[in-house]
Amino acid sequence: MEGFDVVIVGSGFGGSIPALRLTQAGRKVLVLEQGPRTTPASFPQDWSFRAQARLFTTYTSKDYHVILRYGRGLGGGSLTYAAAMLRAPSEVFEYKDGNDYRVWPAGVTRAVMDPFYAKVEETMTVERATWSDVPRCGGVFGMMLDKMGKTADRTMYPIHDCRQCGFCMCGCPFGKKQHLGHNYIPQAEALGAEFRTECKVDHVEKDGDGWIVRYADVHGHARAVHGDKLILAAGALETPAVLLRSKAWMTDLHPQVGRNLNNNGDVAFLFRVPPTMPKTYPYMGRNNAGIITYAFWAEHRITIHPGAGPPALVAAMDVYSEQDGPKVPLGVAFKHFVRDQYAQHLLPALAIGLVDGEGTVTVNDAGLLEFDLPLTDRLKAYIDRVAGVGRSIAEASGAELLRTGGDTFEHGDAHPLGTCRIGDDDGRAPCDMNGALRGQTNLYVTDGASVPGGTGVNPSLTIGANAERIAAFLTA
Ligand SMILES: Cc1cc2nc3c(=O)[nH]c(=O)nc-3n(C[C@H](O)[C@H](O)[C@H](O)COP(=O)(O)OP(=O)(O)OC[C@H]3O[C@@H](n4cnc5c(N)ncnc54)[C@H](O)[C@@H]3O)c2cc1C
Ligand code: SF4
Repeated sequence: MEGFDVVIVGSGFGGSIPALRLTQAGRKVLVLEQGPRTTPASFPQDWSFRAQARLFTTYTSKDYHVILRYGRGLGGGSLTYAAAMLRAPSEVFEYKDGNDYRVWPAGVTRAVMDPFYAKVEETMTVERATWSDVPRCGGVFGMMLDKMGKTADRTMYPIHDCRQCGFCMCGCPFGKKQHLGHNYIPQAEALGAEFRTECKVDHVEKDGDGWIVRYADVHGHARAVHGDKLILAAGALETPAVLLRSKAWMTDLHPQVGRNLNNNGDVAFLFRVPPTMPKTYPYMGRNNAGIITYAFWAEHRITIHPGAGPPALVAAMDVYSEQDGPKVPLGVAFKHFVRDQYAQHLLPALAIGLVDGEGTVTVNDAGLLEFDLPLTDRLKAYIDRVAGVGRSIAEASGAELLRTGGDTFEHGDAHPLGTCRIGDDDGRAPCDMNGALRGQTNLYVTDGASVPGGTGVNPSLTIGANAERIAAFLTA
């Protein structure tokens, strides 16, 4: 059987970053990625379900209320993310959950993470947007905050010379948005790392001190490779699924694998801004609309940023006005409302904040992934708190807050975390602070699954920095 020093499953932030660092340290590295290689031509400006299905894998929760999706391809989520790359505020690393448990290990603070954040920022060329990079709806959101005496910061991105075409989440066809295929992956390949695409890992088997990785290749043929070390970086949904499918070949799989699923406290909503304010044009400009406010962080531990995208995405939301009561999703009246209001008076926004990870990833008898993200009392209280902040922003501008979901938390999400979390408590955290899966030998988790809680901002930079940190440990 073919053998490698290190086999890595998944080529997103959690996979490609250790691939480069371990190859630089002289290890023979193989990365198995289920998605294809892409070129700029792989990213048509097309929001159709058919085009989106090529770029993303989507799952619906068991109760059908929440949709989670992730980018699939060489480079993982970096291909189709909106590319906001922000350091998590210091308090994130001190967060204690409802059981008074500090979710990040005591040894991983913002000060410890800072050099690793800097490494990712340098490698991916992250820089602050200029004011002329901020799309129109970002500017209008800034005006709304100004009216209530609050401030916003311009966001950090690895985007240069942007054409503001507004299709970042379809992948950038102009190559202006840096993804891992522009930096970590070619650097690792130049040094000898091998990235095998369209290779889907089914499960892993213990083999002495190492691991046999079983996968289906591009032709669907069953293949196996041996790794002295195994790194799982298939994302917060798929990493626990690979482990749960491997239970029969692993004694004592940690019982918390797949638990603590955290959606990063994401809550989406809309503002209907009054005609007296400038038009929002939210379909224009980069999809993460240029600014973010930390003005509510101290009191509520949430950040809010405006987003931009196609009207169809908004028309598919289950949005209701607090004044009028629930509206029927996708109903004709709501479609007309989006048609009449979207281009000029609607402003989409996303709050991100610190919540407990109360969801679960499981696999069914056929080995297929399922997940639950229940609307617990704690999560509902958090969503109501976010709505209160949204309402205060709206009221200061004579705008109206349009909420999504309500009692059922209808929600499409893209920031799953925590399902194989690192942590100090052997019983609560499957992985130790260096990503080693407790109870196993030479098996590490380095992706969003290992990030133990919400990041307060979009998570990719923290996932990347955490992967740099664990890679530094592995190469030391
Ligand atoms: C539409 C969208 C917009 C986003 N915008 C932002 C943003 O602006 N800023 C931000 O910080 N974050 C953003 N995110 C989130 C960000 O993309 C993710 O947090 C990040 O990519 C997760 O990194 P990861 O390494 O954990 O996993 P991923 O990047 O998801 O990588 C996992 C890889 O593993 C592969 N894989 C999975 N299962 C298998 C298997 N069995 N065998 C082989 N390979 C497998 C997948 O195909 C994938 O390529 C966005 C996400 C989406 C969906
Ligand atoms: S808005 Fe900018 S980064 Fe986004 S797809 Fe267009 S050119 Fe690329």
